[in-house]
Amino acid sequence: TERIVIIGAGQAGAQAAASLRQEGFAGAVALIGAEAHPPYQRPPLSKAYLQGALARDRLWLRPAAFYEKENIALRLGARVARIDRAARRVALDTGEALAYDRLLIATGAPPRRLACPGADLAGVAYLRGIDDSDALRPLLAGARRLVVVGAGYIGLEVAAVARKAGLAVTAVEAAERALKRVAGPPVSAWFEALHRAHGVELRFGETVAAFEGRGRVEAAVLASGEAIACDAVLVAIGAAPETGLAAAAGLPVDDGIVVDETARTEDPAVWAAGDCANFPSPLYGRRMRLESVPNAIEQAKAAAANMAGRRTVYDAVPWFWSDQYDAKLQTAGIGAGADEIVERGAPGAKARAAWYLREGRLIAVDALNDIPAFAVGKRLIAAKARPSPKTLADPDADLKSLLT
Ligand code: FAD
Repeated sequence: TERIVIIGAGQAGAQAAASLRQEGFAGAVALIGAEAHPPYQRPPLSKAYLQGALARDRLWLRPAAFYEKENIALRLGARVARIDRAARRVALDTGEALAYDRLLIATGAPPRRLACPGADLAGVAYLRGIDDSDALRPLLAGARRLVVVGAGYIGLEVAAVARKAGLAVTAVEAAERALKRVAGPPVSAWFEALHRAHGVELRFGETVAAFEGRGRVEAAVLASGEAIACDAVLVAIGAAPETGLAAAAGLPVDDGIVVDETARTEDPAVWAAGDCANFPSPLYGRRMRLESVPNAIEQAKAAAANMAGRRTVYDAVPWFWSDQYDAKLQTAGIGAGADEIVERGAPGAKARAAWYLREGRLIAVDALNDIPAFAVGKRLIAAKARPSPKTLADPDADLKSLLT
């Protein structure tokens, strides 16, 4: 029988295992995960789960019985230490070896770490997995002042949770605005206003040079020399694709494991999907690497179809969401490279949207509490449409009229 091995039992790995069965693959499927937990969703780890509003068993992507029923060999708490492409075998850190006919690498993207003095003091935390969120919750509960390093989505979501719990929160960001890597200036401004209104202090153009404290963190020292007193720190300065295994096996790596539009690497027996994969987007005509649940799911589905022998091109419109306080952001497409950003909704309005255009073509939308803008925007982006900026800007316009 044919054997498929999947490295990484996260969002993409678990989806690929399930999709292989849906595609009718009847051979052996092994899903190997370094974490002790069955495959789970990460988004609540910085939102409802961190807040204590969601039980742990709500995080599991599928019930335990699913893997048995589908005959998926789930190996948890086991790390793949090496890929031997010539022998088509992976070696686990337990000393075991597993042979494969086809291999999927879905190893995700762990947080970038700060290397400054004091970075290993107690009270300095990172957030990627359940164990991190479980450690962060009591840290916040016992703290009065939190410093968040990095004003990206995860940093801002944790800032919101901490403010709701009554902590004083300062966010330190190296760039001149929040969410710079993923959103345009208007959207940064919305979120900065939202957080300031909730009492978060935002410090832009500042980096942390050191953490100080006797045994545990007591202050974050900025490059300017200023010290911010704190008893808890979350470092959320982005993630780096986990490409070590692929690189050591001689596979091309360039901000992620390099794959083609079918999620396949240069080795015809090896695929990669999710946060760790760098893929060509037909929609945008360039390579990219995304860190989002929909990307992990859809790219894993495409990889599974191709691994099962049904050629499928991965060409979904990227999308993402974030919850902060009572605000819900939904975003579709990728706004980088926009030459025009059109705003919908009056300043201060609850529902707002920012439309990103490039040479008249809609390439992305950020929709804040504006479900129609997200839903219509996603379809317009897929259609490479050139909607009228006047209609996009008009909060009273019927956006559906743009779809005809
Ligand atoms: P992961 O889910 O990270 O899975 C990779 C797995 O591979 C990990 O469990 C890792 O331990 C394992 N692994 C790595 N190396 C090995 C090895 N050598 N051997 C065995 N196992 C290995 N996305 C959204 O769309 N919306 C959100 O609101 C959102 N919020 C988020 C909040 C947080 C706190 C975090 C951390 C992420 C959030 N994301 C969100 C991003 C989303 O969770 C990721 O994009 C998604 O999990 C990527 O799936 P993946 O399978 O590629 O990686």
